[in-house]
Amino acid sequence: MNEEQVKVDRYAKSRDAFAWAKEVMPGGVNSPVRAFKSVAGGGDEIVPVTVKSGKGAMVMDVDGNEYVDYVLSYGPLILGHAPEVVSAAMSKVMRSGWTFGMPTEVETQLAQLVTDVVPSVDVVRFVNSGTEAVMSAIRLARAATGRAKVIKCTGCYHGHSDSLLVQAGSGATTLGVPSSPGVPEAITQNTLLVPFNDLVALDAVLKEQGDEVACFVVEPIAGNMGCVPPQDDYLEVVRELCDRHGVLLIFDEVMTGFRVDLGCAQKLYGVMPDLTCMGKVIGGGLPCAAYGGREDLMRQVAPDGPMYQAGTLSGNPLAMAAGLATLEVLRDTDAYGVLETQTASLELGMKQAASDAGVSVYTTRVGSMFGMFFSDKPVYNYEDATACRVDEYAIFFQSMLHQGVMLAPSAYETWFTSTQHDESVINMTIDAAAVAFKKVAGAV
Ligand SMILES: *Cc1c(COP(=O)(O)O)cnc(C)c1O
Repeated sequence: MNEEQVKVDRYAKSRDAFAWAKEVMPGGVNSPVRAFKSVAGGGDEIVPVTVKSGKGAMVMDVDGNEYVDYVLSYGPLILGHAPEVVSAAMSKVMRSGWTFGMPTEVETQLAQLVTDVVPSVDVVRFVNSGTEAVMSAIRLARAATGRAKVIKCTGCYHGHSDSLLVQAGSGATTLGVPSSPGVPEAITQNTLLVPFNDLVALDAVLKEQGDEVACFVVEPIAGNMGCVPPQDDYLEVVRELCDRHGVLLIFDEVMTGFRVDLGCAQKLYGVMPDLTCMGKVIGGGLPCAAYGGREDLMRQVAPDGPMYQAGTLSGNPLAMAAGLATLEVLRDTDAYGVLETQTASLELGMKQAASDAGVSVYTTRVGSMFGMFFSDKPVYNYEDATACRVDEYAIFFQSMLHQGVMLAPSAYETWFTSTQHDESVINMTIDAAAVAFKKVAGAV
């Protein structure tokens, strides 16, 4: 077989599985990025790999191929796939019932741990997804302030709820334009946009409309346009500006929470929001998320207060047990030290491999969140991120895939590592990248 045939045949079962999936689900997937559409331009005809199992740093597909996984379910799996402690905690629940619609002790245990370690969170409410967490926090901010408007950053993702599904406007502040049909303008008119890392724009919009703004919602480290850390004293000044205008500050830590530090990004940067949204790692890979914050605000949530929010499966024991087991490992071991060391060597190796091949990349990293942009220039916001050479990413992605490294199928996703991404796995990745970068260099 020649090289092309090898490639085609090694994904035969995934190809069949995806053809079937497409018949019964939109795009064959349950979340759009999984369809591999944005990396289709890398030269090969590729289909999404259908996964069979995962263990540690690796995932296995239905054809029997193995990959080092940097997707990690888009962030939750900080301990890698199927860690024993988490399976054991879940197995116990699976023998004794997994949802009751009545209080259980495990949800209080997780709530206690979360309020102990996240500095600004006094009281917490569990929900089922990050989308729900941010949607609810915004409702609470509006209830508490009696104001309607919300400011968000261009290119920050806060889930797919109507008022936050607002597209990038170029340049300075623009009125929110819905980024999907089905979202009425009447809703997004209350959503104002500013670029990330841009204090001048935030100051201007607050001066103009601050007394109508309920909250500024921001990812403390932007992770949904690639990984874009806050510059200098951005978060400190954001806090001051919000206080000046009586605007609540919401940190969307759905990605960063328990990922960059046990105390989340707020602890790392020493800036305290009024409300915090958490997700991903908090559920150890099960559907679970939360919002929490200052006691006086959280007591306005029903049934302590009038702001209504509920959920049939919220705080269900299976998710609580997985989250608790995960956070306990993070609390009781040197997980963050390990993640820091391993991801630092990944970053160093990737930069070296790119430079050896003569490909210019810009890398960013906070702990185990890693960003690599095909760009000659630094990336500080969405405009910078979208100016990158995405066609080169598609080539890079495909070459890595064929060599057994699973990256996110989009140039705008953060890479994640787990505690199981040890030296040998990182070195294997860097060796594959050396080949992939050469391929990119050869194609341009
Ligand atoms: C993933 C993510 C969300 C959405 O969470 P879902 O569980 O997918 O609804 C919201 N905000 C941020 C910052 C995220 O990374």
